[in-house]
Amino acid sequence: MKRIYPDYYDKFHCIADKCTITCCQEWKISVDDDTNRKWKKLLPPDSISEQKKNLTAYTYQKDGARVIRLNKDHRCPFLSDEKLCHLVITYGDSVLSETCTLFPREIHEFSTHDEVALMPCCPAVIDLWREKSIEFPVASAIIDHVSPLFLIRDNLIKLFQDKSLSIEEAFLEGFYILLELYKNQPVTPSQIHEYFSKDTLHELHSALSDIHIPASDTFAECNELLQDLAVNYRKEGLYTRFLQPILTEAEKSSEISHASWDSFCDKMADYDMIFRNFLTNELFSDLIIPANVSNALEHMVMQMQWIIIEYTAIRQSLFLWCSCNGASTLTYETVRDYMVIISRMTGYDDDDIRTYLENSFAELIWDWGYAALIVGTCD
Ligand code: SF4
Repeated sequence: MKRIYPDYYDKFHCIADKCTITCCQEWKISVDDDTNRKWKKLLPPDSISEQKKNLTAYTYQKDGARVIRLNKDHRCPFLSDEKLCHLVITYGDSVLSETCTLFPREIHEFSTHDEVALMPCCPAVIDLWREKSIEFPVASAIIDHVSPLFLIRDNLIKLFQDKSLSIEEAFLEGFYILLELYKNQPVTPSQIHEYFSKDTLHELHSALSDIHIPASDTFAECNELLQDLAVNYRKEGLYTRFLQPILTEAEKSSEISHASWDSFCDKMADYDMIFRNFLTNELFSDLIIPANVSNALEHMVMQMQWIIIEYTAIRQSLFLWCSCNGASTLTYETVRDYMVIISRMTGYDDDDIRTYLENSFAELIWDWGYAALIVGTCD
């Protein structure tokens, strides 16, 4: 089976003890059945302070899955003070669960080919995206008999890589086309080519550039969304260091001035490439899933909405961070922290995304106008 991956993929390595936000804390770390069977027969390493009868005794069932029980500081009990794994030190890599072995890699097995990518929940991955624009394999051109969905995805990636458009414009134009394709199913390759043709994109760009959403409306709605997204994490006391200051700021600010938004957008411009890499990577890895879903295009629209929520939540967090710190500059480390934290907070599986969208909005599939409200403009 042919396997395709973005050009940065082989460059990744875990920076372990140098990691600023290790994946071994404040997270649900799953333990698969095969690993659990092995763990029942293994004693905990002597170096762990709280000794139990076997490794399974450090796990429990949560939301239908077996996960490692974190300690009172929300850290994995196997994580050493030097941020190394006691299990790996004692038993070697093969003792790890599938989740720990794979992270931050993501593998999708389609009937025509396999795809692999890395997830943005790891700071070492974001560091790779700081160097240059990512190149993605164009599945619709190199894989035989792929579904037309790959052609849509390849065109959307191209749209987000087009630096003549701002990221916000790419979202609004891409989402508009996606909705049109969704409404006019079944779609053919020639329709997709037509929607993404130079002329159609030019017309669409002119039409959409006449629409202006006040920055204060975008700000107020994104504030609500961010607070809603953070409710459970706040309740469980997770990511407090990152969430507490910005949520306090969100609660006291309901309005912003154009000047403060414009000045924030200037700061964001310094990270344009990294955000484009982040978003194109999300499109590549999330828009199409291998599972047979009854309406694959609906799934694609739903995932696009989720990527919009993820991006606007990061942008909102950074705006609030600048406001509460009175910051005149936005450092790379801050941008990276919030990319990692928000992508961990939004790292839901497909069913959970669907449930979240169904419970939070009047309809599963938004009107284009709602996307325009939360995306707004930032250039
Ligand atoms: S988040 Fe990434 S760099 Fe940090 S410990 Fe996990 S895999 Fe390693």
